[in-house]
Amino acid sequence: MALPRPLVLGNWKMNGLRADGLTLAGRLAERAVKLSGTLGVFPPATLLAQVAQRLVGTGIMVGGQDCHEKPSGAHTGSIAAPMLRDAGAGAVILGHSERRHGLGEDDALVQAKTRAALAAGLTAIVCIGETEEEYAGGRTLDVLERQIAGSLPLDLFTRGAKADSLVIAYEPVWAIGTGRTPSLDEIGRTHTRLAEMLGPRIEGDLPPLLYGGSVKPDNAADIMAIAHVDGALVGGASLDADGFWRIYTAGGGA
Ligand code: PEP
Repeated sequence: MALPRPLVLGNWKMNGLRADGLTLAGRLAERAVKLSGTLGVFPPATLLAQVAQRLVGTGIMVGGQDCHEKPSGAHTGSIAAPMLRDAGAGAVILGHSERRHGLGEDDALVQAKTRAALAAGLTAIVCIGETEEEYAGGRTLDVLERQIAGSLPLDLFTRGAKADSLVIAYEPVWAIGTGRTPSLDEIGRTHTRLAEMLGPRIEGDLPPLLYGGSVKPDNAADIMAIAHVDGALVGGASLDADGFWRIYTAGGGA
């Protein structure tokens, strides 16, 4: 089933002890009386089950920040997609730039993880985006084209599977955590091209396209008003319940 827009998803990254995570989840639960869009939180793995439990019945999506490409096995320290699901997750972020560039994950691995997530019944939030050097060299669209072809299991969708468990987050690497963003025109042009790239490769409706990278309460409305921007993936600003909720309502969510 298609996810209601806007989608505003909060990546908590490696932040939060139990008390912090449960307080933040509780503050969001108080606000989320009747959600018109999709609000989601992606806590660290240690908090996933407890946050999922705290948010049962609120409609807030809870997800993991990564999964292994195999469903089980001898992979010390890794977490499999069925384990995320078992802990209460409905989604997982894959291919985040902190994993692509910080941990050397390539397109093939992101694609294998995406297949594993979909097979486990999770919604896959697949991140793509160019580095600062690629941006400066005018190579943004080439990079996105390559990441779409390499990171997404497109064969599933050209064989008739619906992309209703897929979300794509365009996150320029140089905008993450820096306070810098592309101009609204640049975001608009890039998202329009993304929609054009995906159109012929996916049967039925396009998956939601999110923008991510220094989204804050004061720029969220302008960014989410852009055509083909269906919501936002939010890092730092998602750690404050009030600010995160303001981003969600700025995108039209209530
Ligand atoms: C992110 O890490 O996905 C992100 C968008 O971070 P920030 O909002 O802090 O730039």
